Amino acid sequence: MYSALELIEKKRDRGRHAAEEFKYLAAGAMDASIPDYQLAAWLMAAFLNGLDDDEIIWFTEALASSGDMISYPQSDTIIDKHSTGGVGDKTTLVLVPLVAACKAKISKLSGPALGYTGGTVDKLESIPGIDLHLSPERLKSQVTKIGCAVSGHSAKLAPAEGIFYKLRDVTGTVPSIPLITSSILSKKLAGGAHGFLFDVKCGSGAFMQDGESAVNLARKLVNVSKRLGKLCAAVITDMEQPLGEMVGNSAEVYEAICVLKGEGPSDTRELCTVLGGHMLKMARVAETPEEGASLCAKALDDGSALEKFAEMVREQGGRAEAVYDPKGILPQARCFYDIKTKETGYLSRLSALMIGEGLRALGGGRFKHDDVIDRAVAVRLFAKIGDKLSSGETVMRIYYNTQEQLNAAKSYFDASWDVAPSAERRKLIITTIC
Ligand code: URA
Repeated sequence: MYSALELIEKKRDRGRHAAEEFKYLAAGAMDASIPDYQLAAWLMAAFLNGLDDDEIIWFTEALASSGDMISYPQSDTIIDKHSTGGVGDKTTLVLVPLVAACKAKISKLSGPALGYTGGTVDKLESIPGIDLHLSPERLKSQVTKIGCAVSGHSAKLAPAEGIFYKLRDVTGTVPSIPLITSSILSKKLAGGAHGFLFDVKCGSGAFMQDGESAVNLARKLVNVSKRLGKLCAAVITDMEQPLGEMVGNSAEVYEAICVLKGEGPSDTRELCTVLGGHMLKMARVAETPEEGASLCAKALDDGSALEKFAEMVREQGGRAEAVYDPKGILPQARCFYDIKTKETGYLSRLSALMIGEGLRALGGGRFKHDDVIDRAVAVRLFAKIGDKLSSGETVMRIYYNTQEQLNAAKSYFDASWDVAPSAERRKLIITTIC
């Protein structure tokens, strides 16, 4: 038998835990037999001294098995997708119906919004009536029936992870690659998919702000997933500027619908077809990611992805008309304010971080877990880094409902951009790790 103190001392002294010791920690978190202060001390020791790949696997498995575990028949290759979070990141809204329209099966479990980056659940809840809190049984039966489902993470899946995450959030132990890897993979493992596609964001608006840490996290996610017997790929993508044109909950659903109609901004479309291509390869629908990407492009252009989105919304109790008439049904803000450039030149900076903070100050994101958000507030970007701007042109448009919202947010948006005599366009897809 162990004691929590022994395990804290072992990790403090750079020791290596056994699988049973992680089970002891997860069980102690679940039944509260280990107090928070000891779990927090162990987390700090693990943050400082790390976990090797075996330890990450054992910790992941201990967290995953602390609650329900969904399982799908091996004959159905179910794929899940995870983004490490970014500003304007509406890829899940497009990808889920898109890959299902291409005959792959996708079960998407969405985590809560982290900091200023909005969560998929907050965005989709702009659609009246939609239920995004599916029980594990309902999630599984919907994926089996129509090929796709999106749900917020049920408290029944990997509940011990939630306990550790809350402690990490208040003890400065979030930015640790081993702890992030176990946290993400435990929830994915409990969700039961056979393959995982990771979109690891890199840049000012992401968790991983530099290329080296993004590559290290992507490699760890891929290596550990493979050792857990999963199909896996990670794509590292730019988050120095927001993705697409729209940032805001209901506005991102609107942009996703445009992309599903074969329209919308080219960067959002490109990212969705590239990520979708990898998912179709994993699901054995395509031989290569490139072939998968062209199947995805076809499904966007022929309307089948849009139809699948409407089917999914209907199946989850939402008003499917919102998919065909988003402007009439999704919440929209009453007022707008344009930010214009006084100079002629090229947009040289469009900080995803400042725009994310601006959206949160507008009321579109949370400072505390129980804050109520305004799904209608948004910002529309009229230019991206490298685009030419003439004096007097609009750079971005802020959509708001009250003057207080605009007053709270304007300085973030004002500080989010620069114009210079020249600027290079940014590369969206940085690298892929398989
Ligand atoms: N996302 C997660 O799910 N867990 C982390 O630790 C960090 C990001």
